[in-house]
Order: sequence, then structure tokens, then C-alpha cells
Amino acid sequence: MATKKELSEGAQKALGFIKEGCETAAEIKSKGFQVYPAHLNVLVTREYVTSRDVRLVCPTCGCKRKVKAYTITKKGIEFEG
Ligand SMILES: [Zn+2]
Repeated sequence: MATKKELSEGAQKALGFIKEGCETAAEIKSKGFQVYPAHLNVLVTREYVTSRDVRLVCPTCGCKRKVKAYTITKKGIEFEG
């Protein structure tokens, strides 16, 4: 299989944050990186991370919402860009 650059810069950056322990897009954004769903979707599609639905309770009003939480895979840990 031909090799090409597997991940965009944004996706690589998102992967770096997940590697450091960020779980959700909101956590990544809180670190100052404007992550887009496309960055995270490509990481899931290419099996650098897995995603699961988690329910968060809003600290302000107590409403509940479902968000995606991401966990790095072995392939993600070994990714070197
Ligand atoms: Zn709320």
C-alpha cells in the first residue's frame, strides 16, 4: 500500500492532546486548540482513537447532554507523524 501523509496537521494536533489525556473536544478547546469534528472523526476512522458516548451534567444549569469521549489506541500511541 502506498504511504502518504496519514493525518492533517489539525488531526495530529488533536491526537497529541488526546495522548496527553484530553477526552472530549471541549477539553481540547480548553487547552487553546480549536479542534473540529473532522479532526476527531479521521482519528476514529483510522483507529488512532476510539470514541464512546458519555453523559455530562452541565455545572451551570444541571442539564444533561451526550458528548463523545476519546481514548487513544495502541496505534495512536505509536503514531510519530
Ligand atoms: Zn446547561
